[in-house]
Amino acid sequence: MNIEVNNKIFEAKAGETILDVMNRNGIKVPTLCHMKNYFPSGACRMCVVEHENTGRLVTSCSYPVEEGMKVKTHTTRVIEARKMIVELLLSNHPDDCLYCVRNGNCTLQDLAVEHHVTERRVSGVKNNFNKDLSSPSITRDPDKCILCGRCVRVCEEVMGVSAIDYINRGSKTLIGTSFNKGLNTSSCVNCGQCIMVCPTGALSEKCHLNEIQMALNNPSKKVVIQYAPAISVSLAEEFGMEPGRDVNGIMNAALRKIGFDYVFDTSFSADLTIMEESAELIHRITNNGPLPLITSCCPAWVKYAEEFSVDFLPNVSSCKSPQQMLGAIIKSYFAEKIATKPEDIYSVSIMPCTAKKFEAQREDMTHQGITDVDAVMTTRELAQLIRLYGVDMHNIDPEMTDSPHGIRSSAGKLFGGSGGVMEAALRTAYFKLTGKELTEFKIHAVRGLTGRKETQIRIGDLQLGIAVVSGLQNAKILLDEIRDGRNDIHFIEIMACPGGCIAGGGQHIGADESAIMSRLKSLYDIDDRDSIKVSHKNPEVIELYEKFLGEPLGHKSHDLLHTEYKKRDVPL
Ligand code: SF4
Ligand code: SF4
Repeated sequence: MNIEVNNKIFEAKAGETILDVMNRNGIKVPTLCHMKNYFPSGACRMCVVEHENTGRLVTSCSYPVEEGMKVKTHTTRVIEARKMIVELLLSNHPDDCLYCVRNGNCTLQDLAVEHHVTERRVSGVKNNFNKDLSSPSITRDPDKCILCGRCVRVCEEVMGVSAIDYINRGSKTLIGTSFNKGLNTSSCVNCGQCIMVCPTGALSEKCHLNEIQMALNNPSKKVVIQYAPAISVSLAEEFGMEPGRDVNGIMNAALRKIGFDYVFDTSFSADLTIMEESAELIHRITNNGPLPLITSCCPAWVKYAEEFSVDFLPNVSSCKSPQQMLGAIIKSYFAEKIATKPEDIYSVSIMPCTAKKFEAQREDMTHQGITDVDAVMTTRELAQLIRLYGVDMHNIDPEMTDSPHGIRSSAGKLFGGSGGVMEAALRTAYFKLTGKELTEFKIHAVRGLTGRKETQIRIGDLQLGIAVVSGLQNAKILLDEIRDGRNDIHFIEIMACPGGCIAGGGQHIGADESAIMSRLKSLYDIDDRDSIKVSHKNPEVIELYEKFLGEPLGHKSHDLLHTEYKKRDVPL
């Protein structure tokens, strides 16, 4: 069928909305509550257009196309209606943009500028809700919430958690947990996906920058930093560089300029994780389970399992995540090596993830009373720190990481994207089971951003069924199939965030799917380029086992690198 938009004829398909047709043809109208690939709600009315056939203003995100429909997108009436929506939203909004974490990256602010809102014409009673600072990962400021509902939808539809919802009525309406208690008492898994879709500063990560600066200024502390595999291919966007650019060397140099004493790469401990996890997989295969083995690198998934999938806890790998493994090694082996007491080391990590803040403060992530990791910053916080210390990312020479935890295989680097842990683990499991390397390292069936991937792999006499899921709702569907009797899956990778850590809740806000794809492609390019493609050939990992750990699943590994998970009661 054809529809007319702004006097031009466009082709449209039955079932599409007016917004779909406009998006495809480069006609831009502002949206607020709308999210691509979600069922439209039309709640904010920001996307209204004039339906000339009826003379009504209709929400283009939810209005289906009709043959012969005529639409105008920027008449005076439409522009005035949108401007009024912005003014109404601002009428009770705090006027503290200069102090807001989203200053300069706020959709509401942008809309006010675009619609030339230069004075307050509508005065409403300002909201005066309490901030929720209870979560170790997420800060909520309901005064800044415009009730668009995006966070509610992502939490329910993508994460399958439903920790938050609309509560109260009328002017007292807000987004919160049941009974409006702290997020820490809810089922929230700290994934931060709600932050990624929030158009304002109502949701943000719990910032650790003050503590980190205090440690940097404390001469009695050795401040050690590690960064996750996804960071070097995601940070560029914070500095206006092209998405996916690998700034690994530049980042090393920046971290030294800021004052970190040692710079390590968490991809090193991703390799270490693979050594332990592949040994665990083989042990379970040869000792009748429990199978499927499920990865444990994602702390949001682990908390979800502790709350909602307790029946699968015996299946979850006992391996700590790479962040925690490296934290434990830094405060044991490395501390010994530099003749420093573990308590005099301040261990910081840079993660693409808000749930890592939660993970670092879990009781089981300590060793003899000393926490493995002291502070966690997201990619966004790292960018803030780099700016604060005046480091020019465009004019700095790349540097190497420090030894002994700076060398990685490209398999460890693949952890940054969905399917990466699986691919790395299978490369090493294949070698351990057959004594030979895979002839083709790339396992195409687990690559890409699709939320659910499955295949069968032959390793010697074994036929292994493997599955990779991202987005906890996808995980729930797969686990339900297994509960219903499916038994052809032996190994599962679960990441909470859709696409894995490259799209984690601590990443640059505003990245579209093509930017995320560029980050993933960058990881694959690194894998193509690098010479060490398997974790078991990482020379620093080999040395760590020879000099300190002994063997995978051995006594020392068990003590430092493994943990156990317990059912977690959700009070609300
Ligand atoms: S952090 Fe994740 S689980 Fe928690 S409220 Fe936000 S989307 Fe839901
Ligand atoms: S917290 Fe943010 S995403 Fe959630 S409803 Fe409010 S403004 Fe929208």
